[in-house]
This record gives sequence, structure tokens and C-alpha cells, in this order.
Amino acid sequence: MNYNIVVLDGDGIGPEICAGAIKVLNAVGKKFGHDFNFEHRLIGGCAIDKCGVPLPEETVKACLASDSVLLGAVGGYKWDNLPVDVRPEKGLLGIRKAMGLYSNIRPAKLWSSLANASPLKYELVKDGVEIIIVRELTGGIYFGERGKGFDTMSGEYAWDTEKYSVAEIERITRIACELAMKRSKKIISVDKANVLESSRLWRKTVHAYAQKHYPEITVEDMLVDNTAMQIVKNPAQFDVVVTSNIFGDILSDEAAQVTGSIGMLASSSLGDGTRGLYEPIHGSAPDIAGKDIANPVATILAAAMMLRDSFGLTKECAAIESAVQKVLEEGWRTADIMQDGAKKVKGSEMAALIAERI
Ligand code: NAD
Repeated sequence: MNYNIVVLDGDGIGPEICAGAIKVLNAVGKKFGHDFNFEHRLIGGCAIDKCGVPLPEETVKACLASDSVLLGAVGGYKWDNLPVDVRPEKGLLGIRKAMGLYSNIRPAKLWSSLANASPLKYELVKDGVEIIIVRELTGGIYFGERGKGFDTMSGEYAWDTEKYSVAEIERITRIACELAMKRSKKIISVDKANVLESSRLWRKTVHAYAQKHYPEITVEDMLVDNTAMQIVKNPAQFDVVVTSNIFGDILSDEAAQVTGSIGMLASSSLGDGTRGLYEPIHGSAPDIAGKDIANPVATILAAAMMLRDSFGLTKECAAIESAVQKVLEEGWRTADIMQDGAKKVKGSEMAALIAERI
């Protein structure tokens, strides 16, 4: 099969880590008989420098014509003082909107060979942890009506609104159920239904939708405050978690911290079709750019997610994940995950080791 992938390298370490992912994808293509075609386009600071805008029209067109998109990261000191409208991050919001992506999926995976990197006690994480947070990305309080004012009774005040429609909840539930069908067939839906009306609708809708369309899936509810505690108390109990924009924002950062290594975590954004945007969760790390010390694994795992979730290439995704596991078990480490007694390698060497083990 032939797959057209747009690569948005971006800024800082973006080009280095994307090169690592491309190397691994080419190894997968060779082994499994697929042709991955890569088309590089500009986004973020480099696009501002060349075209004056963080998201050139040509980039949007290429992404919409592609089978899927791989992104490095955007931003850096050079563009920090530009007006908000032309900042590199604007490119990210723009491409998500243009591609109609309304979900963000972040697997917080702790590999058992990196259990020591977790801030949690070894006994809690020794067998590895994988918490997949499916976050609604385009609704809720971040996009609801808001305002501020002043009255003589209360003085200055401000307000934001959490509002969800059944359709918005159903479509994010579908994404979570699709993922869960390939895994434990269990989802935990996180809300604050003991207080919020919007959460009560969330809970009712998630259950009704899952029961009707995915009867094999078990849905468990968990209040958001309890979830925050459970993630640090017993992280191994989680698999797929579905939640609103604001709760997902907070819980996905908490879950990422449990793994203790930002250079190992990938994420994807999906909409109605199969095309998605796949990226590492970290930023452009301008402090280490150009030194070939950035860990490419997060981007390599983002590429693996693309194979499984956009192209349905489950075996190929598993081949990348087990190559990463093998390399870690053999003791190879980039600087950010270095441990006593391990063998330190550069970013490009790490990618080459993973590609060799495909
Ligand atoms: P960052 O994630 O870029 O870096 C935080 C720390 O982690 C740094 O010390 C960095 O060296 C390290 N780090 C990050 N990725 C690494 C990797 N793969 N290997 C080894 N070490 C790694 O976050 P920041 O410093 O807050 O932001 C830097 C720039 O990135 C800013 O301009 C910010 O706006 C941008 N940013 C972009 C995205 C994105 O493109 N999705 C996300 C977050 C931040």
C-alpha cells in the first residue's frame, strides 16, 4: 500500500526528531511492503520566517490532501515577542481547526524498563503503566461564553461557561470506544456529575451511546477529583479514559508526569475521518536543538499511532513498539532518560537502533 504523509517538522528539535521517525517508518515500509511518501511543509516559526504567517495556505492544502500528518514541534525564543496573532502556536490551533480535529489522545505510557524514572514508588509502576486519555478538544469551558463586569454589590467579576451538546459527547465517546475495542474493552468516563449539570448530561450520553453502538464495552464512571487521586495511587487500574476538554487538559499532564519522561510520550488528534495529526507531547526544546541529543522516541511512537489509528496497520504499530522496548531493555538511552549503567546514545543513534530492530 501507498501512504502519503505530510511532515510538519516545525522548529527547534522538530526536524531532528521527525528525521528519526521517518527512518523508522522507512524500515517498517521495507519490512511490511508499504510505500510511505513524505512531503515536508512549513508550520510555526520557520513558516513565519519564510512566509510571514505561522500556517501558510499551502500547508493547509497539503495536509487536507494527505493520508495523515506527522508534526515535530513549534516555537522558540526567536518568536517569543511577536504579537499573539502571528506566534508559532497559532499555526497549531489553525491546523487542528482546518483538519476538523476534535479529540486529543494522549497515551501516558511508562515502560517497565524506565520504572525508575517515575516519581511514584517502584511497587506502583514496576509492571509498566499505560493511561490513554481521550480529551474532547473543541468544546466545553475553553470555548463557552465568557465575560467580565463590575457591579456595586460584588465589585469586579468574571465568568466562563461549560456547555456540551449530546452530539459533541457522542462523537468523543465514539473515538474512545473505537480505541477501547482494540484494547481492554473498558472505558472510564470522568466527570463531576455530583455538581455539574453538563457532567450529568455527559455521563448519561456516554452510557447511552456506548450501550447502543458498542455493547461489548464496559463503561465505568469516575469523578474527576477521585481520578486525580487514583492516577497517583493506582495508575495501573486505568486503560482508556474519556473526558471533557478542561478535565482532560489537567489529567493528561498529571498522567504524563507519572511516566517521568517527556521525551517518550506521543499524542494524536482525530476527527470524523481517518486522517489525524500525530505529534510528541513535548515542545521544540530550543535549549537542546541542533545538538543531536533530543530523544526521538516520542515522535517515533506518534508515527506508530498513525499506522494503527489512521491506517489500520496494527502489526506494523506493534513492530515499532516492540523495537522501542527491545532497545530500552538492551540498555540504550538518550541523555534525558539516562540511568546508571546504561549506554548513552545520540538522538539519531537511538532512531537508528530502533529502525534496525524492526
Ligand atoms: P519543551 O517541551 O520544549 O521543553 C521542556 C524541557 O524538556 C526542556 O528542558 C527540553 O530540553 C526537554 N525536552 C523536551 N523534549 C525533549 C526531547 N525529545 N528529548 C530530550 N529533552 C526534551 O517545553 P518548553 O521549554 O516549555 O517550550 C519550548 C518551546 O516549545 C516554546 O516555544 C513552547 O511554546 C513550544 N511548545 C510547543 C509545543 C508543540 O509544538 N506542540 C508544545 C509545548 C511547547
